[in-house]
Amino acid sequence: MPKLALHWQILIALVLSVVFGLVFTDYVVYVTWMGDVFLRALRMLIVPLIFASIVSGVTGIGTARNLGRMSVKTFSYYLTTSIFAILTGLFMVNLLQPGRGADLGLSGRVEGLDAGAESFGQTLINIIPVNIVEAMAADNMLSIIFFAILFGFFTIRIRTDLQKPLVKAFNAIFEVMMRITMFVIRFTPLGIFGIVSNVVSQHADNMVSLANSMGIYMLAVIGALSIHALLTLPLLLSIIGRANPLKHFRSMSLPLLTAFSTSSSNATLPLTLEAVEHNVGVSRETTGFVLPMGATVNMDGTALYECVAALFIAQAYGIELSLMQQGIVVLTALLASIGAAGIPMAGLVVITIILTAVGLPLEGVGLILAVDRILDMFRTTVNVWSDSCGAAIIARSEGEKLKV
Ligand code: ASP
Repeated sequence: MPKLALHWQILIALVLSVVFGLVFTDYVVYVTWMGDVFLRALRMLIVPLIFASIVSGVTGIGTARNLGRMSVKTFSYYLTTSIFAILTGLFMVNLLQPGRGADLGLSGRVEGLDAGAESFGQTLINIIPVNIVEAMAADNMLSIIFFAILFGFFTIRIRTDLQKPLVKAFNAIFEVMMRITMFVIRFTPLGIFGIVSNVVSQHADNMVSLANSMGIYMLAVIGALSIHALLTLPLLLSIIGRANPLKHFRSMSLPLLTAFSTSSSNATLPLTLEAVEHNVGVSRETTGFVLPMGATVNMDGTALYECVAALFIAQAYGIELSLMQQGIVVLTALLASIGAAGIPMAGLVVITIILTAVGLPLEGVGLILAVDRILDMFRTTVNVWSDSCGAAIIARSEGEKLKV
């Protein structure tokens, strides 16, 4: 009997999990463990995988010149697409005005609102880990990436007889991590069933009232995300990357569905690395450099969301933002998206950066709390989608041949 392709299995799991979460809400406790096991397995892979993939990517890229060129391309892509995303959000939120007349009484309380208050300079300084083991233990992605790039860069500057076995060892570690990834991937449908039925059951009671009170806000976010994901990025992919967006999308179905279900770019990273290398055909050097950094820094969906959410809060409180202030929102939304970790609901807390910058009440975050986890699913999918398009575009610009 032919086996059902994994992305179909996942889609079926997704549909079943929604039904299960809605109908058998009380029984969801018996399946959440599947989601926990799956997420833990993915998280277990992240640190060694990021480290090995970056070292093996950077040693493959070789010279400082090549590395410099890749960095410029990568960051230009990250910045350009994030700004496009924010502007799309800005347009949508001004068009639909979801915050006008929003009920401030629906506001919830959010803990840890000052978490994003660290200065930008300090955030940059913090990228340098004082202790790499501590950074790894804390899943501090930017610090791990920073150290791994340095490690890779200097690996190819040592004596050849020492260098060769080291490079081989890291390539081998990467291969092993990928094998474990492939093994974990097989359990995606079960993991997703556990995660999504849990999320659905938590929102099951107030679905209708949420749709009534937050419907237009959700529409603004999802509408703008759709424009960015289905129009802007595919255009860039086909014009600059000369790739077929539809084929690319198909190659990415597994990580995209996983991003949607887990709401975590980090947890999805092992699957993204696998799909971009094997299905899209991007080289190890490029994926190793672009994707781990992308999962942490390049968050188009989050950037867009930050902008829409901040303006929604302003509208709800009846605060008119000047053009200058909207400009500040755009810039700080970019910073907030860079600062947000690739974990569920990270985008919710970093909104405080924007609110502080334009003088909006921090409690406003409570207004968007109820639907954040749902919108997170959509924005995380766009985050991962943009990373994958970036990898393909950069690979193409480096003269690589792609399968899409
Ligand atoms: N959950 C998102 C991600 O992992 C970050 C966010 O909360 O916006 O990409």
